[in-house]
Parts: sequence; C-alpha cells; structure tokens
Amino acid sequence: QKEMELFEKKHKKSGELYKKAQDSLLQGVPMNWMTKWAGSYPVFVAKAKGAHFQDVDGNDYLDFCLGDTGSMIGHAPEPAVKAISEYAAQGTTFMLPTEDAVWNAEELQRRFGMKYWQFATSATDANRFVLRLAREVTQRPKVVVYNWCYHGTVDETVAIIDETTGKTVAKPGSLGPQCDPAITTKVIEWNDVQALEDALKYEDVAAVLAEPVMTNCGIVHPQPGYHEKLRELTKKYGTLLIIDETHTICAGVGGCTKAYGLEPDMVVVGKTVAAGIPAAAYGFSADLGAKAAAAIPPELCDIGGIGGTLAANALSMHAMRAVLSEVLTEKFYDKNIPLAARFNEGVQGVIDKYDLPWNTTQLGCRTEYWFRKEPAQNGGQAEAAVDFELDQYMHLASLNRGILMTPFHNMALITAETSQADIDKHTAVFEEIVKNIL
Ligand code: PLP
Repeated sequence: QKEMELFEKKHKKSGELYKKAQDSLLQGVPMNWMTKWAGSYPVFVAKAKGAHFQDVDGNDYLDFCLGDTGSMIGHAPEPAVKAISEYAAQGTTFMLPTEDAVWNAEELQRRFGMKYWQFATSATDANRFVLRLAREVTQRPKVVVYNWCYHGTVDETVAIIDETTGKTVAKPGSLGPQCDPAITTKVIEWNDVQALEDALKYEDVAAVLAEPVMTNCGIVHPQPGYHEKLRELTKKYGTLLIIDETHTICAGVGGCTKAYGLEPDMVVVGKTVAAGIPAAAYGFSADLGAKAAAAIPPELCDIGGIGGTLAANALSMHAMRAVLSEVLTEKFYDKNIPLAARFNEGVQGVIDKYDLPWNTTQLGCRTEYWFRKEPAQNGGQAEAAVDFELDQYMHLASLNRGILMTPFHNMALITAETSQADIDKHTAVFEEIVKNIL
C-alpha cells in the first residue's frame, strides 16, 4: 500500500493521461501488454537516451527492460539516429527494393549462415510466414512449440500443455484462436527428448519452432546435448527446425545459432535489429529457398505469398544497416556481456547474504533472477516458480526507486550504455527491497 501511494504521488501526470486514455484506448493503453506493469497504471514516457529514460512527470529511470529487447542496443544510439533522420527526408517506402536490403541480407547471411533472407514488419509476422512456408514445403499441418514459449501473437503458437490432461490447449487470454490449437499444434516441454521424439513420430509435424534458449518464461537453458538431439530427430522425421533468435540475439552477433554452432533450416530475428523501428527478418537454407520460390511463383505471390506492403520498407532497411554495421557489433557484446555477469553477481551476492531460496541465470547480455533455488529446466517449472504478488511488489518498489525491470518476469537487459554505477545502484536497490520483505 505504501509503495502504491508513493507511486501515485510520483506519477501524477501519467495518472492523468491514463485516466484520459480510458475514453479512447482499450483499457487505457495503446497495446494491451502495457496493462501488465506494476503500479496503478503504466508510466508514460517522455524521452530516452542510452540506458535511461524520463517519464512525463520528469522522473528518471535506469532502464533494464529496454523495450523488452526492442531497444537492447540502448535508446537512440547515434548511428541509428543519424541514419533514420537523414534517410526519412528521402522517402520511407516504395514497394521496390533498396540497396540497403541487399547489404542487410548479406550481413545476416554472414552472421546466421542462412542462404536466403526476407523481411517482415515484426517478429510475429516473420514467425507467421516461416510457419506457412514450413507447411507448404512439407505439406504437413502441425507445429511443435514449447510449453510457456512466446513467438508473438501467432495463432499456432499461443498454446500450452494443460496440466491436468497433458493435452495442447489455448493459452489463457489468447483471444479466440482460429480453431482448437490441438489441431494445429503440439506443445511439449523443453529439454524432454522423449516428448520431442513422440511428437515427431506420432504427429504430422511440419516444423519445430524453438528459441535456442527459452527466454519468455525466464532464461531456461538447453541441457547438454538437447540441441544435437533436436537437430538429429527433426532430420530423422523430415521436420523443419526453425530457430527464433528475436530475444537470443542477446548472446552474440549471430545469436545462439552462431554461438552454439546450430544448423537450423530457418532463423528469425526481430526487435532490436532496426533500432526498434518495426522490422524483422527470416532466413532459410538454400534447399528450402528453392522449394519456397517454386511454391510462390511471381504470378501468384501478390495474392497469397508471404510478404507485406511495408515489409523491407526503405527506412527500416536503412536503420537496420546502421544498426548491424555500427551498433550491434562484436564490440557491443564485448562490453555488455561482462557487465551482465556483474549484474548477476550483485543479485546473487544479496541472495547468498540473506540465504534466499532464489537463483540467477544469464544469457549474453540478458539476466534473470528466480524465486526458486535450482535453475528451471522447462516452461512448466518456470511457470510454477512465478510468485505474482512478490513480482508485483519487487517491480513496483524498483520503479519507485528509479529502476525499470521487464514486467513479465525478473529479467534485465544490459546495454552497452549501462555503467558499473548503474549496476551498483541496482544491487543496492535490490538489497533494500529484499530487506523490506524479509
Ligand atoms: N519471438 C520471440 C522469441 C519473442 O520473444 C517475441 C516477443 O516477445 C516475438 C517473437 C514477437 O515479437 P514482436 O512482438 O516484435 O512481433
């Protein structure tokens, strides 16, 4: 209650805007996840730079959410600002290609090893397209995804395992999936090789769509050998393997695909690759490219196909080129991955000091703390560790002390602009909050 009062006192203007928005925006927000923030309402942003942003009430925040990866490269990095502002004056979209698209495809080819690339306006769209391509080339109906994964609001993927029956069912709140998800989808637990083999053997599976490390239920690493089995079994059963690197690009320039030497059939990237301007990309193997091209001949592609009018628009392609060439480079990761380790050391130090049954995980510049002692091995375990009330309290208390964490769990992203002082501030605030709840 005390934290809620403090929140409302510090965020009067945000409160007024939220009240006004009730008349025109569904639930008072322009995108429904924005209702998820701790506090009586979301704070409204005024401006941002680097690892910080200011809200409309003039409060300054250290941002560890960074647009849930959309701004992983830091807010408004100079090369991207320059490229976007200069380019906008030359036109934004033509439904004709620009040279930047070729440059981006070649760079993505180099990073992820996939031969052919296409662009989309979001990772959600990209995932929708890769699943359609997979069904087309395999002529099979189903997709395998992992329990409590997230790949955007793609119908086939918003499903979970029903705890009582073990069957695939729609995720709560998934807003009217087009048909029973059990027809389109088989959900299995991450790291369960037997469940994977059963799914591939007994269901008619076009593709497995996987994050290489789960991030949307917290960071859940693959057990040693899981990726090898995933590739071996998908090959054995003629199923395509799609690796969604939208979040896991936090692991390095070529995401986990490069870092772990994975050999998927398709890769999806999005969010931060064009500095938060809506853009995503998906790549596929040479073999798949040939099959895809045959399936969508030019005379049919505009009425079916896999594109979108604003996909590969000139402005987003220019922004992506600036990001890939000057921001999201080896140097970026060299700087922030060690900082992310220090962030977790700070948190783990507090956990150890107060003997809490919690732990921390890390993937590249992404970190997480958990309300369980052992790292989770799959989405079901991760979901069981969620303590909604404790989460809300910790997020709200952090927010009141100038720190923004990702609302869905206790995830923090470290950008190249995050400093040691920022990390020390987080550790001090984390300890203060822990002391309050003990
Ligand atoms: N794929 C993954 C792994 C994601 O985490 C997300 C969003 O969180 C998406 C796809 C969808 O991205 P977008 O909301 O930008 O379409």
